[in-house]
Amino acid sequence: MRNKKRAVLRALSLCLALVLVAACALAAFPASAATVSDWQEKYDELEEKNKQLQQQIDANKNNANKQKEYIADLNEQINVLQQKVDLCAKQLSELDTQLAQMNAEYDEKYELFKQRVRANYMAPKQSLLSILLTSGSISEFLSSSEYFLRITKSDKELITSLTEQLTEIEQRKTEVESTRDQLASEQASLNTKKTESQNIISQLNSSNSQLASEKEQVAKEMAAAANEIQRLINESQSSGSYVGGPLIWPLPGHSYISSYYNEDRNIAGVQDVHTGIDIPASTGTPIVAANSGVVKYVRYNTTGYGYHLLIDHGDGYYTLYAHTSKILVSAGQTVTKGQTIALVGATGRVTGPHLHFEVYVNKVRTNPLNYVKYS
Ligand SMILES: [Zn+2]
Repeated sequence: MRNKKRAVLRALSLCLALVLVAACALAAFPASAATVSDWQEKYDELEEKNKQLQQQIDANKNNANKQKEYIADLNEQINVLQQKVDLCAKQLSELDTQLAQMNAEYDEKYELFKQRVRANYMAPKQSLLSILLTSGSISEFLSSSEYFLRITKSDKELITSLTEQLTEIEQRKTEVESTRDQLASEQASLNTKKTESQNIISQLNSSNSQLASEKEQVAKEMAAAANEIQRLINESQSSGSYVGGPLIWPLPGHSYISSYYNEDRNIAGVQDVHTGIDIPASTGTPIVAANSGVVKYVRYNTTGYGYHLLIDHGDGYYTLYAHTSKILVSAGQTVTKGQTIALVGATGRVTGPHLHFEVYVNKVRTNPLNYVKYS
């Protein structure tokens, strides 16, 4: 139905044209010699490895993208916290201004108070003055002085009120500072997560560099295997002269073609060009040999062509029958034109039962409809 090898090969940068030629031949001419089979097997392994490497690379990329999204999310959270931190700083600055004003007021009142005390308690109360003047603060004086009770009620209330306000502002300041510190610690923790995530991305990127170079190596080996297969095919013996006569339609009673030769197709995200024609029919429908010849090979793949066979009609003419449910002939067997050789199936890479039919002229794939007509 589709040549997966071709699709993969096309992705390789190196020796593209040459490799494509080799790949076309891959499906058609393995088993002619044991060594070709060996190379084919090696090629299939490499292809599988290549696929796995690509999957790993894709998974890593996907993972790195998720980490990037996570970092973007963290940055957003960090920014929100920063706005709150900034707000705290603004509040603290306002509180400091208030404190400065309040302290100035307090100092002023304290000075007035001292003057009043000085006036009220001159000579006879020298001891009181000395207490006051040596006191560190008004509250110290008030609490240590036995003359506290003599202070006027309004003075006392004023001092008390100022002291309370100062205490309140100090408390508020402590609260804001604590909030700010908490926000900063949250920010620090987010930054740690960010660093961790960035480290993961670095690791993924470095892993991908390694995988890419491995993949490059696999690609070189694949190209070498394909070249070797092509070389062995070119060296192989000619299959004799053409058996003659026109080819006949390989699926009697079924004329509908669901996919034509060279049709551009994109199945499961893989771009491919169709290598034959597809003729749908229910499973078990007999497939006949388009011409007499020798069965070149029979293969029971579970992928790609599925159960398929190639018939050699001589002089570089071949026909290929793919996706069958059952093959009724074996390699090396001589078949005659119109003989039932296999039954329609849906093995390999298919979406439903059909015959995938290819025609080779001069060992090169060609449009089957130039050689067969439904009749
Ligand atoms: Zn097909």
